[in-house]
Amino acid sequence: MSLDNPFGGARGTGGKERRCVAGGNAGITFKRDVRVRGPVAAPDVLLGLSTPTFVRSVDEFLVRTELDGWDFAEFNHLDIPPFCPELLDKEARRRARAMAGDLGIGISLHAGDWDLLSLDPGVRRYAEVRSLMESELARDLGALYLVAHIGIPQRMMLHDGGRAWADQFFDYAPRVEAAVEHLSRVADETGVRILYENTYRLVGPLVEAIAARGSPRLGFLLDVGHANMGEGVRELHRAMRATGRLVAMHLHDNHGARDEHLPLGAGTVDLDGLELPPYVVVEVRDWQKAVATRDGFSKRYL
Ligand SMILES: [Zn+2]
Repeated sequence: MSLDNPFGGARGTGGKERRCVAGGNAGITFKRDVRVRGPVAAPDVLLGLSTPTFVRSVDEFLVRTELDGWDFAEFNHLDIPPFCPELLDKEARRRARAMAGDLGIGISLHAGDWDLLSLDPGVRRYAEVRSLMESELARDLGALYLVAHIGIPQRMMLHDGGRAWADQFFDYAPRVEAAVEHLSRVADETGVRILYENTYRLVGPLVEAIAARGSPRLGFLLDVGHANMGEGVRELHRAMRATGRLVAMHLHDNHGARDEHLPLGAGTVDLDGLELPPYVVVEVRDWQKAVATRDGFSKRYL
C-alpha cells in the first residue's frame, strides 16, 4: 500500500464506519465519519489530538480524546511518563490497543527527542536503540504512525561570545545518510510507518535523503508552526508533497519567531489553498483551545 493512500479500499465509501489500515498494522475501525465536505475538494482527513497538557494515564487520554470527538490520540514525546516504552509492558500495550479499538479511535505516537544526528557517538547509539524501542511500541499499539524529529544540530557557543549551529562548522551529510539508513531498517523490521517532522535545521537535506533513499515506510509530517519559523509553510508543503509521502500535519500557530503552539488564527500561519494530508493533529497545549482550533479548522478547510 502506498504511503499517500493509507485508507485502502475505504476511500470513497459512504458508510458510517471506516477501516483505516496503516503501515502494515492491524486495521482500526473508526466510529465517526468525518468526511465533511466544503466547497473546496479536500482528501479524507482524520483529526487527532496531541497530548495537550499533563495527563496521568494512557486511559485518561484515550477516554477524553474520544469524548471530545477526535478520531485519534497522539501520545506526545514518549520520554514523558507514562508513555515510555519501559513503562508499558506487553499487557499494558495490549490493553491500550484494545481500549482504543473499543472507543473507535486510533493511536499515533510522537517519538521522544532522540538525536540521530548528534556529534556524540554515545548519544547517537542511544538514539538508535531508543528509536527501535519506540517503533516496537508503535507496532504493539497498532499505531497509525510514529513521528520523530530525528535530530537537530547542537547550538554552539563561540569564542567571541556569539552562537552558531553545529552544522555551520561540521559536515552533517554522512549523519543524515546514516540516520535515514537506520530509520529505514527500523521501519522495515517493525513494519511501522515512521514520519520525519520538520524542525529548524537540515530540513531540506533530510527531506531529500528520505525521498531518494529511504524505505517506502518512511514519510513526512509537516509541522506548520515550525515551517512558519523557517522554510515557509507553503514552500515546505510543496517540497514534501512532491515526494508523494506527505502523510500528516501538526497544526498550531505562531508569529514566525518562537514555537508558541498557539491556537490556529492567533498567529501568522496561513493554510489557504493547501491540499491536506490524511492525518491532521492539533498541537495546542490546552484542551479547550485544541478543540476550538479543530472546530475552526474543520469549518474553514474541510
Ligand atoms: Zn509538531
